[in-house]
Amino acid sequence: RWVYMNGDYVKKEEATVSIFDHGFLYGDGIFEGIRVYDGNVFRLRDHLIRLYESAHSILLEIPYTIEKMEEAVLQSIRKNQLKNAYIRLVITRGKGDLSLDPSTCEDPKVIIIVDQVKMFPQRMYDEGVSIVTVPTRRNVPDALNPKIKSLNYLNNILVKMEANQAGVGEALMLNQAGYVAEGSGDNIFIVKKGILFTPPGYIGALDGITRQAIMDLCGRHGYTVKEEPFTRHDVYVADEVFLTGTAAEVIAVVKVDGRMVGDGKPGPITNHLLEEFRGLVTIDGTQ
Ligand code: PLP
Repeated sequence: RWVYMNGDYVKKEEATVSIFDHGFLYGDGIFEGIRVYDGNVFRLRDHLIRLYESAHSILLEIPYTIEKMEEAVLQSIRKNQLKNAYIRLVITRGKGDLSLDPSTCEDPKVIIIVDQVKMFPQRMYDEGVSIVTVPTRRNVPDALNPKIKSLNYLNNILVKMEANQAGVGEALMLNQAGYVAEGSGDNIFIVKKGILFTPPGYIGALDGITRQAIMDLCGRHGYTVKEEPFTRHDVYVADEVFLTGTAAEVIAVVKVDGRMVGDGKPGPITNHLLEEFRGLVTIDGTQ
């Protein structure tokens, strides 16, 4: 495997960053996780737009145009000769001194890792998953706005640990007002009486690319989807609940905080959207 580092290809085992990189010292940087399906990169431009917006928001100037970055990603995939892959694109502030001050940093590091996809077991899609809500709260939009996909993922890691402690695969974060925000690494949808609901961005969630793809599919297939705040109670009494994300794709949730969702099996709308999403990923990509 070859890792792209500021224009050079370095062997995976030899790819390193400095301990003085502010990405390491302070989590000062941003990232994206992108999937390649059968040689097609799913919504690469949308991922890059989110990356450049995150960079702009934290005053990090990516030293490439978006077109050059797109080409670097495509070239990295060709170099690694993978038809199905997971791409991790990381931009750090670069090497600086031990102070917080980013003006001490030299050049940003642009890193593209192309790896094999670790598929979730099929059983999870067939049977759905159990999740819990946890005490860790999603911060309200602030300097560290949840829309910025920054290298500061400690909040999400705490949520993941709380899920592990509860013996389930994923957990939901509420925001400070108690509205449901998102999972540690995925967005949430609920279905009630045939209508889909997903929290609006201002509740404290990432603008998921998969979330948007699902909303597009809903439009195409005549489902109404509303971006509206909802509470834990709404999740407990929903007919269907599912999570969306680059890694998870579309995963049904069948139990929340010990309450069974619907009849405890993945629901028909969830199954339909998963099927349509799987059809979309190869045709709706960049070659
Ligand atoms: N929410 C968070 C916090 C995430 O890290 C991710 C993963 O990227 C998502 C949601 C899902 O977004 P996407 O569908 O773009 O992968």
